[in-house]
Amino acid sequence: MSIGKTISEVRKSLKSGEYTCKELTRSYLDKIEKHKNLNAYVTVTADKAMEQAEIADQKIRSGEDGDLLGVPLGIKDLYCTKDIRTTSCSKILSNFVPKYESTVTQNLLDAGSVFLGKTNMDELAMGSSTTTSYFGNCYLPYRASDNPDDEICPGGSSGGSAAATVADLCVASTGSDTGGSIRQPAAFAGLVGIKPTYGLCSRYGMIAFASSLDQAGPITKNVEDCAIMLRAMAGYDPKDSTSLNVDIPDYTKSLNKSVKGLKIGIPENLLSMLDDDGLNIIDTAKKILVDIGCELVSIDISSMEYSLPAYYIIAPAEASSNLARLDGVRYGYRSDNPRGIEDLYVKTRTEGFGDEVQRRILAGTYILSSGHYDAYYTRALKIRQLIKNDFINNGFSKVDAIMTPTTIGPAFSIKNSKNMTPIQMYLSDVFTVTANVIGVPAISLPVGLSRNSLLPMSVQFIGNRLSEELLFQISSAFEKEVCFDSLRMNIRRSIDA
Ligand code: GLN
Repeated sequence: MSIGKTISEVRKSLKSGEYTCKELTRSYLDKIEKHKNLNAYVTVTADKAMEQAEIADQKIRSGEDGDLLGVPLGIKDLYCTKDIRTTSCSKILSNFVPKYESTVTQNLLDAGSVFLGKTNMDELAMGSSTTTSYFGNCYLPYRASDNPDDEICPGGSSGGSAAATVADLCVASTGSDTGGSIRQPAAFAGLVGIKPTYGLCSRYGMIAFASSLDQAGPITKNVEDCAIMLRAMAGYDPKDSTSLNVDIPDYTKSLNKSVKGLKIGIPENLLSMLDDDGLNIIDTAKKILVDIGCELVSIDISSMEYSLPAYYIIAPAEASSNLARLDGVRYGYRSDNPRGIEDLYVKTRTEGFGDEVQRRILAGTYILSSGHYDAYYTRALKIRQLIKNDFINNGFSKVDAIMTPTTIGPAFSIKNSKNMTPIQMYLSDVFTVTANVIGVPAISLPVGLSRNSLLPMSVQFIGNRLSEELLFQISSAFEKEVCFDSLRMNIRRSIDA
């Protein structure tokens, strides 16, 4: 029996009876065990997965159908899963077992999918490397050809989901994206990931990082899987006051549609940040777009350079407020033997949060303090509005979508990530944060390999609000010109060995 297929391949095999969902799930669980060294999962829910598989088999036998029926998934450990430990990979939540299910995971369960377990991530979704997890580093099953001794970082914060998906330790996975945490790990792994329009997926039951930026989304092996997953995850939810009350279309209907004549904007000013390798990938991507019939349009969205500073004001500010609830009183980790209530707060939060999270709480609290609020937070919100206007006036009023690199370069090694300063790490989000800051969708997909390391390199397509169908249309045409499988061939080989 072969696993490591896409959603539609798995569905076909389940339907035809080539294997049962229980057999499939068991083989995934075995593979997770075998590749434990990747540290892609922090909790494996084997028993529950087998129960869900049994139910899926019964439904399949009785003739029920559904895009995700019986499909085994990996779930980022930031989604609250009822009666299953949910930690956001922080010590402060290391004993937290939610009494409720997040809306997104409930939607996936309702669609009949099977959850294999919870995937590793940067602590509380803050990071770009999955090296700040309380449960230790996660690894991509890759080696750079020019430096084969160093372990490769899966990006972050959804690094466990990317590693699990590319190593075939699940069919597809969920991530979350506040400033790039779906797209950057997807790019490092050579996978597809979409951050939808703000409000398309409910945030109910997702451990909050920065509420005005956080969005759920999938990380998948191809564009079709991404379309299937997003449709299942999205939908209006009265439990989230920012949830959009819009119909969720069948995104797979957008696949295979012609893209002839669509205008793709290229913000040339941004490309100056790239080295030859990065420019080469952009050139390849441009050629593909021309080949599939799109028209390239140079655009100038100069405000984009202010997205990163605005993001690193807004995100820590909101994080400091959201994380105030983690104080050792209501739930989660509590420090032993405190001397009074103040000492309880101080000790619990000092011991419970890692360095990066503490850095953000400190920065955020400063930003929101009465003397600095206007100078930083209010100003960042004004800049946010200016960037939005710039995108409308100089971007979406002229072109259908905008293409940028997803990351500055390919996946870095774990060793290098440890030597990076926080600012260097923040700079790795330079292309991704804008879509979050202005609330629009963006999809990342691989283009080719970097010349020296032979690691995947990706671009992202950014669309106007609720243009997911268009983004899937462009991505599916683009994907056909890229040999995704050969991109990941060396990994497959190393995983199957
Ligand atoms: N890397 C970014 C940060 O650390 C984005 C994280 C995310 O999208 N969750 O803030």
